[in-house]
Amino acid sequence: MKYFPVFFDINNKRCLVVGGGDVAARKVALMFRAGAQVTVVSPELCESLQNRLANKEITHEARSFEDNDLEACALIVAATDDQAVNKQVSDLAHSKCIPVNVVDQPDLCSFIVPSIIDRSPVQVAVSTGGASPVLARLLRARLETMIPSAYGRLADLMSEFRDKVKAKITTEGKRRRFWEDVAQGPIAEMIFSGREAAAREAMHAAVEEAEASTGDRGEVYLVGAGPGDPDLLTFRALRLLQQADVIVYDRLVSEEILDMARRDADLVYVGKERDKHTLPQEDINLLLARIAKKGKRVLRLKGGDPFIFGRGGEEIETLMQEGVNFQIVPGITAAAGAASYAGIPLTHRNYAQSVTFVTGHLKDGTMNLNWPALAHPHQTLVVYMGLLGVKTLCAKLIEHGLSERTPMALVQKATTRQQKVLIGTLKSMPGLLEKANIKPPTLIIVGEVVNLHEKLSWFGSAETVGEG
Ligand code: SAH
Repeated sequence: MKYFPVFFDINNKRCLVVGGGDVAARKVALMFRAGAQVTVVSPELCESLQNRLANKEITHEARSFEDNDLEACALIVAATDDQAVNKQVSDLAHSKCIPVNVVDQPDLCSFIVPSIIDRSPVQVAVSTGGASPVLARLLRARLETMIPSAYGRLADLMSEFRDKVKAKITTEGKRRRFWEDVAQGPIAEMIFSGREAAAREAMHAAVEEAEASTGDRGEVYLVGAGPGDPDLLTFRALRLLQQADVIVYDRLVSEEILDMARRDADLVYVGKERDKHTLPQEDINLLLARIAKKGKRVLRLKGGDPFIFGRGGEEIETLMQEGVNFQIVPGITAAAGAASYAGIPLTHRNYAQSVTFVTGHLKDGTMNLNWPALAHPHQTLVVYMGLLGVKTLCAKLIEHGLSERTPMALVQKATTRQQKVLIGTLKSMPGLLEKANIKPPTLIIVGEVVNLHEKLSWFGSAETVGEG
């Protein structure tokens, strides 16, 4: 860390600005907002500083800088275009241990001024340590859009109720949860939409209710993590990841996504590799209920979407039976992720009017599917969990009437940097697969739409192999 970030209290303190131009005026504006008594030393003042002087917002010494201007100063900014003066101010300030900033000259500064997002009393400061002001500005712009403009009013409300909440809700964990609910729930929304009186009323009610409730109520969030690329998480999934006490995840969930969890959350791996189920499904269902009943917020994180070949339904049924609260957050399913990242639209006006998702999981070496319904031209077939059954799949589709020239794609680890696309036909794919090194998770797409891959493939790191 190159700099130590701090927030200075300069309210009612004497601060000195040396220089009277536009740059000085911008610094004065900030210092004035923080309540400082600003003295500007400069033979001349720009227009905006003259206005401030007329409004008695600053004191002005209409002359050049003198050494004893530093007396009793809390903070100094030098913004003159005279190198020698800037250096003189900096040297003197350093010798007297008064914090000093010389605009655009980091080597003369004892502190630098960050980019700020002001939602007072909430403030966010961004610094690149002088490396790139452009980067700091871009980051700031991003943060501006993420933090509602009424965030400061929310903070004021929370501060107003702080002592009351502390007195009424005495368990620390329960109190933290209470505040998280306030900051992310209906009360915050009331503030953001300008209904402050309603928010205050709701706060009173919420404190009483929290005091009356017996113990912590646990909850389960059943969350789809999407196909792999962390950017494809939903906002809600991210928010809950950062709140949950315990995260129960399986093999399909990438490490980058787990990295986004709350730092002190417990991570529980429940496996699910083919034929090596680390925990049987029934045990997972009961585990979720058991942890939630201890008052924890459990996030059950699943690859793709929890309700598409995700057994989400079974887990929810158990929670229902056990009387545990839950919510479900959809995710981008592998078919949608693979289709987009491989440039294979699942439907297309000319080639496919429908799309069907099936599981190709082999049971006793066969796939028990409705083959006559699947073997239709002008539709797209997506097969999950079908990698081991490719040969059977191709043979069955041909046997039930699909042309052996029907195009087919295997998409390995879609949306990640290890994505690989193998293109072939129902006839050629089993042979191609033998030579290619394709690993699970892999999704199969069958249908004319696969031909569009050649034209529409865009994802940079994807590797395409197959018939030329
Ligand atoms: N609920 C998940 C599917 C779970 S079944 C979803 O909605 O995506 C597991 C199968 O999903 C794997 O066998 C594979 O066929 C497919 N799959 C999941 N993630 C994938 C990925 N990143 N790339 C390709 N296939 C994937």
